[in-house]
Amino acid sequence: MVRLPEFSHPPVDIHCHFNHGSVLDVADSPISRNDIEFLREAYHHIGIAWGGISTYASVFHPDGAGVVESNRWLYDFAAQTDWVRQWVVLDPRVEESFLQAEQMLKSPKTLGIKIHPVFHQYDLAEFGDKIFGFANAHQAVVLMHPVMTPEGFSQMAHFADKYPDMKLIVAHLCSVEHIELLEKHENIYTDTSGGASNLNNILEYAYERVGSMKILFGTDGYSAQFQFGRVALSRLAQEDKENILYRNAQRLFPKAF
Ligand SMILES: [Zn+2]
Repeated sequence: MVRLPEFSHPPVDIHCHFNHGSVLDVADSPISRNDIEFLREAYHHIGIAWGGISTYASVFHPDGAGVVESNRWLYDFAAQTDWVRQWVVLDPRVEESFLQAEQMLKSPKTLGIKIHPVFHQYDLAEFGDKIFGFANAHQAVVLMHPVMTPEGFSQMAHFADKYPDMKLIVAHLCSVEHIELLEKHENIYTDTSGGASNLNNILEYAYERVGSMKILFGTDGYSAQFQFGRVALSRLAQEDKENILYRNAQRLFPKAF
């Protein structure tokens, strides 16, 4: 018999990307597709209600190229697409991205601010106050790609403590150190996206350390079937799976539901 549980609410994917027809899109391949229609079909197949998106073009390029154009494009696309929510992408060296965030954060379709210091190639020590100070002033949720160095971990911890009115989702749950960040900092959360969710006890161990209220379901554009199954078929209790798949998102992004 198959033990796939029933859920009373459709899951939501708080971290995903797609190509939007820009010259800065990432390369597609027959075995890994990045187009909008492919993602829409995967969500429909599983029953995922919506995805929190930033385009690949907006996060993949070192000089922040594509950020302003992508934010604008996605804002309009999300407004007319029921299964899409937006992360407005900030690059601290691109002033216009702050003006966009100022405006776009008011939309119920905007979940918060996305930053990618690793692909955008800037130093958090240099720009952290500018980014997180802005987020704090707007009581925004920030989704960030983690800086997985010892300095990166201490900077993420430092800025989370310094700016308690923002909530910081350190994406891609992947290590014991990562789980300790959640444990020590009230306003740090994580998502399940990324390859590390194939570790056979990572989700369960994170639950033992911090419970299920700080972990959100995300796919990051990897196979949504795999990522959903990892949570839905985990050894966690039904209530904890529901927290991860949608209840925590309801608490963090009430306007988005
Ligand atoms: Zn991502």
